[in-house]
Amino acid sequence: MSWKDQLDLLDQTGLRRTLRNLSGTQGPQVVLDGRQVLLLCSNNYLGLATHPRVVEALCRATARYGAGSGGSRLISGSMDSHRQLEERLAAFKGTERALLFNSGYAANCGILQGLFDEGDLIFSDALNHASIIDGCRLSRAATRIYPHGDVQALEALMVAEAPRRSGRWLIVTDGVFSMDGDLAPLPELVRLKERFECLLMVDDAHGTGVLGRGGRGSGEHFDCLESIDLHMGTLGKALGVTGAYLAGSADTVELLINRARSLVFSTSLPPGIAAAAEAALEIVSAEEGRALRHRLQHNRQVLATVLDNGGVAVTPEPTPIVPIMLGAPQPTMEASRLLLEQGYFIQGIRPPTVPAGSCRLRVTVMASHEPQDLEAAGRAVLKTLAGAAE
Ligand SMILES: *Cc1c(COP(=O)(O)O)cnc(C)c1O
Repeated sequence: MSWKDQLDLLDQTGLRRTLRNLSGTQGPQVVLDGRQVLLLCSNNYLGLATHPRVVEALCRATARYGAGSGGSRLISGSMDSHRQLEERLAAFKGTERALLFNSGYAANCGILQGLFDEGDLIFSDALNHASIIDGCRLSRAATRIYPHGDVQALEALMVAEAPRRSGRWLIVTDGVFSMDGDLAPLPELVRLKERFECLLMVDDAHGTGVLGRGGRGSGEHFDCLESIDLHMGTLGKALGVTGAYLAGSADTVELLINRARSLVFSTSLPPGIAAAAEAALEIVSAEEGRALRHRLQHNRQVLATVLDNGGVAVTPEPTPIVPIMLGAPQPTMEASRLLLEQGYFIQGIRPPTVPAGSCRLRVTVMASHEPQDLEAAGRAVLKTLAGAAE
């Protein structure tokens, strides 16, 4: 099939994606294709992407250390700002060490490829992020997919595999599922990890900064932070910058420095980015972070209440991701388009990001939204869905 035919097929099946151009910042109001709209699909949950202290840290470190890092960490690109941020991240997650990666995608690929190999076995949730799936493939370990959040099915799989056990075993899960906003059943996964004496890796891309009293993520939320062996998290969502990390034991970090291909063969993060992420982490850990999380929770509740009252079921969990299930791609994209006409930018999510038949509008709430804007957005969603059903 030619590339043109492939594109036509995507068009015909309602799966063609295009880029949309935003002007201005990732604030609650953005200019999209020349029109001002309410932004309801950014992961800048706490507003830190535009926080003056974060931006200032980026500028100051850039002026001092330059725009680029000059190379891979292994060659010449391991700089003061990287080390300082890693020390702070390890303290934040309560681990011996931390290691930076250039993105969450690169982190999951590098961690899984670097620490696991043929002969190992990885148990992976069916709705885990694409970067975990790709990391599993790169590791060449055997992978068993368990139904989403289904601890009993996972336990049955582990029991069935136990007689053949040889290499390392890992359970890997998103802490907060990125397209559903629900939480992994971490306490039960910890119980299984202990029973089968295996490792637990949590990708807390959407939990870090948002969940737990200190913003330490889903592990802190469930009070089981120290039972997680491999903490992966990103710096580009609640922390408002870009990049990612693994926090874990000194041995895992040292081995990854030697083996993780996405780290070894890639230019490290710019020093200004590392300094900005450090400033963001400081805010998240301080009283200000707690206040922002409080505001975020309140805002989520405001939106959830409008939707609930209008008969749209919303997961009860305290995350800023609110999916509204529609099923097929065409009505989902049509609802997204109609909402944009009314001034609300909410992305429609389609395969391969979510399984076929589970297309949805994915609303994300930010601390910087005004509650009355969220109420109006919720009402617009209800009206649009009701109109589509007629
Ligand atoms: C966004 C995301 C990633 C990828 O992180 P990037 O820094 O955007 O590459 C990985 N895992 C999950 C669960 C995510 O939501």
